[in-house]
Amino acid sequence: MRVAVFSTKNYDRQFLQSAAKTAGHELVFFEPRLTLETAPLASDFPAICAFVNDQLSSDVLARLAAGGTRFIVLRSAGFNNVDLDACRELELRVARVPAYSPDAVAEHAVGMILALNRKFHKAYNRVREGNFAIDGLLGFDMRGRTVGIIGTGKIGAVAARILAGFGCKLLFYDVVQNVECAPLGRYVSLEELLSESDIITLHCPLSLQTYHMISRAAIGRMKPGVMLINTSRGALVDAPAVIEGLKSGHIGYLGLDVYEEEAELFFEDHSGHVIQDDVFMRLATFLNVLITAHQAFFTATALEEIARVTMANLTAFERSEPTRNELLPPAKS
Ligand code: NAD
Repeated sequence: MRVAVFSTKNYDRQFLQSAAKTAGHELVFFEPRLTLETAPLASDFPAICAFVNDQLSSDVLARLAAGGTRFIVLRSAGFNNVDLDACRELELRVARVPAYSPDAVAEHAVGMILALNRKFHKAYNRVREGNFAIDGLLGFDMRGRTVGIIGTGKIGAVAARILAGFGCKLLFYDVVQNVECAPLGRYVSLEELLSESDIITLHCPLSLQTYHMISRAAIGRMKPGVMLINTSRGALVDAPAVIEGLKSGHIGYLGLDVYEEEAELFFEDHSGHVIQDDVFMRLATFLNVLITAHQAFFTATALEEIARVTMANLTAFERSEPTRNELLPPAKS
């Protein structure tokens, strides 16, 4: 099947091309993000392949459908950027890669916790400059600390297993309990998790219910000096409220792999330009804030699996075979 691939980087090309050869699909790579302006690039392609910051809003979807697209393959697990109601109306089918490597994301979240705690980012710069003093780098033992995990699905469960290995006390909040996690800690209300945790890590999807769940009020309930980690989706966090929390010292550490307005920044080299996003730039000034540009998923294992499952999704659509990766499976006739 001919597929228009949006937001392509060299690494996508490498992994997708190799999987496409085996599967027999023809991929045409486009560097731009999918937007209303770039949607015409997909004219006459029966399928398109999109990533996390591609826009799959109703107007873009209508333009894709008018150009002959019938199938959308997401090379991501999250699908908050897709207007599923519009897909249903336009009879566009959508598949994703539900679990390419929960380990990759959980390990990155734990890496952020350790880096912020033991201040690797500061130590790295000091040693490079010949400054071997360790004052200001004081950390804490992980053993015995209370970690709150919000969202105990595939990624949250791996994070729980790793953190249990460190000897942390685990508190969980989810709308559905995971039997794998239950023996490792305690399911509590969101309020209890917020007020009892030394470290809070977010692993739930972005939805109407979770938008800005880390609000000024939620931060107010947290322990002074709390560490907050978000590797899930930027809009779970109200960034200006977090800046207030950092300024007052109520938030002691912040690790972000995602940012609400990341679409304008992440995955591109902006080092030659003045960055216009004042909220992002303020966040970046705090020395107890560590930001990575949506790279938690970025391991070779994950990219191989994304490519493999994406090709399998295309093949299933082409052969009219069912796949559990479809978000809107066609009604049975
Ligand atoms: P998952 O579906 O396996 O787990 C999500 C969990 O969140 C589920 O247990 C679900 O019940 C829970 N949840 C849903 N609504 C909730 C709510 N209102 N409050 C609390 N919990 C709620 O998904 P996953 O594979 O673990 O991925 C989690 C998220 O991680 C994805 O939605 C995506 O946004 C993000 N992600 C980020 C990266 C990255 O590179 N940074 C990569 C992959 C996924």
